Amino acid sequence: MTRIVHVNGAFVPEAEAVVSVFDRGFLMADGVYEVTSVLGGKLIDFAGHCVRLARSLSELEMTNPHTDAEWLALHHELVARNGIVDGMIYLQVTRGNPGDRDFAYPGPEVKPTVVMFTQSKPGLAENPAAKTGWKVISIPDIRWGRRDIKTVQLLYPSMAKMAAKKAGVDDSWFVEEGVVTEGTSNNAYIVKGNRIITRQLSSDILHGITRSAVLRFAAEAQMEVEERPFTIAEAQGADEAFITSASAFVMPVVEIDGASVGTGKPGSIVARLREIYLEEMRKAAV
Ligand code: PMP
Repeated sequence: MTRIVHVNGAFVPEAEAVVSVFDRGFLMADGVYEVTSVLGGKLIDFAGHCVRLARSLSELEMTNPHTDAEWLALHHELVARNGIVDGMIYLQVTRGNPGDRDFAYPGPEVKPTVVMFTQSKPGLAENPAAKTGWKVISIPDIRWGRRDIKTVQLLYPSMAKMAAKKAGVDDSWFVEEGVVTEGTSNNAYIVKGNRIITRQLSSDILHGITRSAVLRFAAEAQMEVEERPFTIAEAQGADEAFITSASAFVMPVVEIDGASVGTGKPGSIVARLREIYLEEMRKAAV
């Protein structure tokens, strides 16, 4: 089945989708994105992604090309046209094509470019890695200072993912001024007793949609939530560790820089959080 993608209002086979060589997303990484999971044909936490998309666009002085209702309709149409049961919808908005290369932003006559496509991942929520957990390494965080804006400039996170692959592990955790910021494409947490610890929100990290839901569910489940930075050493000595993201959901981390976390196996608190998250989000899916 040919994948049908969305480009600027049109639904076309992927081989026919075209974006200009002058598009600022291509030349300057001048664009933002969102990734929404699909489970059982429905969108997970769609409202949260819409809010963050609007914020990313507004921080970069870009116009939001669609209302939330229009975005929802576009997502539903892509799901239907591609027969997606489980998977992801990727959406990207760039500052568009000014017809030449220039550092200055173009005026309002240049419309943003919208690209959306599906990634089919049957059994996304039954990822076997959730039973064994991820291993991570630490790497210096040398990204720019506005990590709260979800831009498409993902070169350093890609380098960090490659460093993890070369080290034979699953991901990297970024460290800045001695403390963990986040993972290459996820938020990072540790568990001590009944307490969930994760870095507080600021421009140092992406404000994860999954993070927000998981912290809410943790509090509702009578877990304590503490938002503060932690070191790699503290994480290595924690009872459990995990990451969250829209496509990995809640994923245990069992090894950090070669040291086992807790028993070295996924623990009960993280397993419970994953279960609650998936159950609640499936119920609220649209
Ligand atoms: N931090 C970074 C750097 C990310 O790229 C992501 C995923 N896009 C996250 C955190 C997790 O965010 P979310 O839960 O909204 O997927």
